[in-house]
Amino acid sequence: MNRDLVVSEIFGPTFQGEGSTLGRPAIFLRLGICNLACTWCDTKYTWDWKSYNPKEELHRLTFDDVYQQLWACNGSGARRLVVTGGEPMIQQAKLARFLPKIAQEWNWQLEIETAGTISPHPDLLSKTLHFNVSPKLDHSGNELSLRYKPEVLKRFNTLTECSFKFVVGGIEDFSEIDSIVRECLIDREKIWIMPEGRSPATIARTTELVADEVVLRGWNLTTRLQVLAFGDRRGH
Ligand code: SF4
Repeated sequence: MNRDLVVSEIFGPTFQGEGSTLGRPAIFLRLGICNLACTWCDTKYTWDWKSYNPKEELHRLTFDDVYQQLWACNGSGARRLVVTGGEPMIQQAKLARFLPKIAQEWNWQLEIETAGTISPHPDLLSKTLHFNVSPKLDHSGNELSLRYKPEVLKRFNTLTECSFKFVVGGIEDFSEIDSIVRECLIDREKIWIMPEGRSPATIARTTELVADEVVLRGWNLTTRLQVLAFGDRRGH
């Protein structure tokens, strides 16, 4: 197998902006390509080839090139790598060989962000790797059969190092989340609700709308710190 990754961008240091490790200093490795097409996706440059040119947006980089670029981003000592996308699990076989050096030699914490449609291979799993699984709801515009894989979500839920992040536009999304949580037996303490939005005003409005529903269920609430701090500018 080739020792290379299809990369969209590498950036940092910045913060993990969402979910269970929100606010932690982190370096980001954004991989190219996605198997879904969410209407509100804020990284369409990783997969939407009607609007973007893959020759400009995607870079096939060797493992050594990526290691070098990540190390160069770590001047502040963030020591946390967030692998995001696109859908990073499309390249999980390569990640299983790429990530151990970062965990074992560099002693960094690792996170993979995924939409939860591709089951993790045992070779990828490790104690220092946390999965941020974000199942896509009806409002994402994807067909149900593509976006919702109960067996995959159940598999992720068996992992200790895993949290689930549901993006909501309003309280009308909660009945769908309730069904998914029931069917996939997702542990309550692993659930984070995140208001959708690409502006601080939208996020604030949606947070206010949904907060009571989150409290009622005993779930966790997250914001989108990168939007509040950097205005959703690419590369932050
Ligand atoms: S799964 Fe993520 S990267 Fe893929 S289209 Fe949806 S929001 Fe965008």
